[in-house]
Amino acid sequence: MTDSEAAEKLAPVTLDSKLANVVGGKTAVALGKAFGVDTVGDLLSHYPRRYARRGELSSISLLPLDENVTIVAEIRSVEERPMKARKGSIVEVKISDGRGILSLTWFNQSWRARQLQPGMRGMFAGKVSDYRGHLQLTHPTYKLFGPGADDEPEMPTDAAAAKLWIEQPVAIYPATNTMASWQIAQTIAILLDSVGHVPDPIPSELRGERGLLPQGRALELIHRPETDSDWRRSRDTLRFTEAFVLQSALVQQRLIARQQQSTARVPAPAGLLERFDAALPFTLTADQRGVAAEVAADMAQTAPMNRLVQGEVGSGKTVVALRGMLAVADSGGQSAFLAPTEVLAAQHLRSIVRSLGPELSAELMPTLLTGQLPVAERRKALLRVVSGQAKIVIGTHALLGDKVTFFDLGLVVVDEQHRFGVDQREALRLKGAVPPHVLVLTATPIPRTVAMTVFGDLDVSTIAELPEGRQGIETFVVPLVEKPSWVTRVWTRLAEELALGRQGFVVCPAIAPKQLEEGAEVDPEAAAPASVEVVLAELRRNPALASARIEPLHGRMTSEEKDQTMRAFAAGQIDVLVATTVIEVGVDVPNASAMVVLDADRFGVSQLHQLRGRVGRGGVPGLCLLVTTAEAETIARERVEAVAATLDGFELAQVDLELRREGDVLGNNQSGGRSSLRLLRVATDGDLIGEARGHAQRLSDHDPRLESVPALREAVRRRLDDAERASLTKS
Ligand code: ADP
Ligand code: MG
Repeated sequence: MTDSEAAEKLAPVTLDSKLANVVGGKTAVALGKAFGVDTVGDLLSHYPRRYARRGELSSISLLPLDENVTIVAEIRSVEERPMKARKGSIVEVKISDGRGILSLTWFNQSWRARQLQPGMRGMFAGKVSDYRGHLQLTHPTYKLFGPGADDEPEMPTDAAAAKLWIEQPVAIYPATNTMASWQIAQTIAILLDSVGHVPDPIPSELRGERGLLPQGRALELIHRPETDSDWRRSRDTLRFTEAFVLQSALVQQRLIARQQQSTARVPAPAGLLERFDAALPFTLTADQRGVAAEVAADMAQTAPMNRLVQGEVGSGKTVVALRGMLAVADSGGQSAFLAPTEVLAAQHLRSIVRSLGPELSAELMPTLLTGQLPVAERRKALLRVVSGQAKIVIGTHALLGDKVTFFDLGLVVVDEQHRFGVDQREALRLKGAVPPHVLVLTATPIPRTVAMTVFGDLDVSTIAELPEGRQGIETFVVPLVEKPSWVTRVWTRLAEELALGRQGFVVCPAIAPKQLEEGAEVDPEAAAPASVEVVLAELRRNPALASARIEPLHGRMTSEEKDQTMRAFAAGQIDVLVATTVIEVGVDVPNASAMVVLDADRFGVSQLHQLRGRVGRGGVPGLCLLVTTAEAETIARERVEAVAATLDGFELAQVDLELRREGDVLGNNQSGGRSSLRLLRVATDGDLIGEARGHAQRLSDHDPRLESVPALREAVRRRLDDAERASLTKS
């Protein structure tokens, strides 16, 4: 051992101490593997999943198959018998909750039969499986209560103490088959006994005001409660702490971002932006003007803009972004416009060229740069980008590639936030000589609490109104379970739309039988989902659609094929597109009026809402038919019906949040590794998050370096470090 290693072992134990120095290397490695924990603080925030009681048996009939469980049970019988075919013996133990029976077996471990006695109680853990109709725990581990158990307190003899022992909550942790709940509890007990004073990340006045426990006490009581109210109180404290630290970290991140030096971009008098505005064939809505003013004000600063613009599909976000790009071009700079797919990048190029008109297009040279360009074209595009000739560069994530160098990158616009992680935004930001301004567009409305939690480092603008002249969209659920005959009606309804000279989409979850498009949900039990191949063939044979021109569009076509198809559809040379969700975002064909979504329950709420946004964009009213075989009153069906019930994207985002689990909402690349939410629930803790945000902001306002609360500064640093580590491991 070196001197410094020795010194570290003797140093007082803090939240930052390495686990290995406190509980030994082997345990630390096992815990690290199981839960990604490294420090004392990491493991102390591995909170119990629930609490059991020694006196209360877990309900065996409710146990999920094939999952690791930890239960409290009583031993019913212990039997040892010789094996039939081989030498050696089997120990079979039956445990029970008073009704159901689970069996545990071991081979050649006779000592188990001596240790385990009928009537003993304890915690048992393992994976529940069904062996010839009998439930069993495979690879069982256990910890007995009472006499004989190693460090478990003995069952007291006096009645009052015995009652307490029976009723005291026993922490049950998220466990794995190599690391049982009680092993975690034992290790955590060592940490709690050796850690010194735990400093409080919550300022003391705030702690008093909210009636919170001191941090050390809260950690003690969430892991080793004596009563239910102990863990309830400590959980409230720790949940608020989590919200407060997270919001403080986001406020700090914003402060840091705002300290960077960017270039102010102001439109030139009688310049490109003014010419564009003068030629605009419509007037901007009040919301568009408001957001455009916010963007202009941000970009006139030397601190880089970090703004999210949310607005319904068709609310006119792109025009607002384009105005920002023109302001940059006015100052000689370039803008990069990132789209989530090649189809969309190509479409954005076309619509930007159209909006600019021939003269401005010639001057600004909007240029497409995607991964699938032929080599010669790509080289030409790269040259225009590096020379600064192309003032607007449109592409997919290929724009993030090392080979792409900008002459003077002033603004990055990211279309559809949900497909881009924080780190991708970051990579693009590094492309400029100085950090460019960043504008993120999203049509997926984000509930306020999610915006505050996930995008808390961004300013948020909202375009709530749609341009005038938009016709409504009618949405109907077609429930095939109850009304199987309606499927014929779906296709005649589509034919009626076509007869009016309009066009339609038919969306399927899969490309071919058994081939699911990304984003669709897989349920191996269910019947095969509708696929583009099969549906296309059916519709081409359908007499109701005999004269219709029907073509496929999906992710396995080359981008050239996709592009060609989209172009033909936009030009009215195709009547019906049978597609996967590649059309989900941004495809803009005003004459398309009908949207049929097959197996609609396989899509998420937001996805359906996005799909529906593809119709009713021009002067014609939209029709959206959500076809489903989901049974009434299932969650799947509820999702579909929620979409039919409202056109309000914000309301749907809230429904989505309630019907889905947290992790999905935050998305992997946005939640920042293992440091992400533990006790906080975005769907239900909105008010708490809002309050924490307010407190964090006020504290940072008068103490930007958080010098008055060193423990908070440390906690924020840990959080930001984790986020950084998470993004590093991904590149
Ligand atoms: P988003 O990006 O929000 O989906 P777009 O900016 O692509 O919306 O606008 C959708 C369509 O509406 C485009 O054809 C655009 O030219 C048009 N548009 C935008 N703003 C207005 C407006 N204020 N009045 C009329 N049409 C508009
Ligand atoms: Mg758009």
